[in-house]
Amino acid sequence: MSDIKELKEYAINNNIPIMQDEGIDFLTTFIVKKQIKNVLEIGTAIGYSAIMMARCSNDIHITTIERDEARYMEALKNIKKFELEDRITLIFNDALNVKLEEEFDLIFIDAAKGKNQNFFERFEGNLSMNGYIITDNMNFHGYVKMKEEDITSKNILGIVRKIKDYTYFLENHMLYKTTIYDVGDGVAVTERRG
Ligand code: SAH
Ligand code: MG
Repeated sequence: MSDIKELKEYAINNNIPIMQDEGIDFLTTFIVKKQIKNVLEIGTAIGYSAIMMARCSNDIHITTIERDEARYMEALKNIKKFELEDRITLIFNDALNVKLEEEFDLIFIDAAKGKNQNFFERFEGNLSMNGYIITDNMNFHGYVKMKEEDITSKNILGIVRKIKDYTYFLENHMLYKTTIYDVGDGVAVTERRG
């Protein structure tokens, strides 16, 4: 058995943007409350959030996708350390090249922030009837709430605009309804309309 604190320290020391404490508490509480059993995660990084989700109950399974080889290798190592190899399936690929057949009762999007809508559209067909899609970093480190003229980095401004477009896409979708919670870095919870 290993220690979550060490994982978090590794992430901080290596600049790996794992989920904030408030966000991960929200996510794991949600999983327990809704009795989620089968999760697809886009954006494994070093496996922190996948491990936290897997630890919610003994009969939960996580499939998680990472395109960065070094992070994928680190995630493999961590999942072994936590003895979760049988409950976490790691896929090393760009999520936009992955095609899955299974259904998931939670799809957790936490990868390239400008591509949320692409991930959403790629995997919505894998969402179970009563499933949820949760998207992290809807505030993008607070930038989404800033005046655009105060954002000096073109790169950041580009991502901020994509997140605003994605917010609009979610809030105006005919098939889904979304609530955005101001916890952690902003978490969107999407479900099918009744
Ligand atoms: N969910 C993790 C943090 C993920 S950080 C946690 O909270 O512990 C985002 C990760 O998404 C990065 O490691 C990045 O390499 C990965 N990523 C970005 N775009 C991707 C894509 N198109 N396909 C797969 N992984 C992607
Ligand atoms: Mg995140």
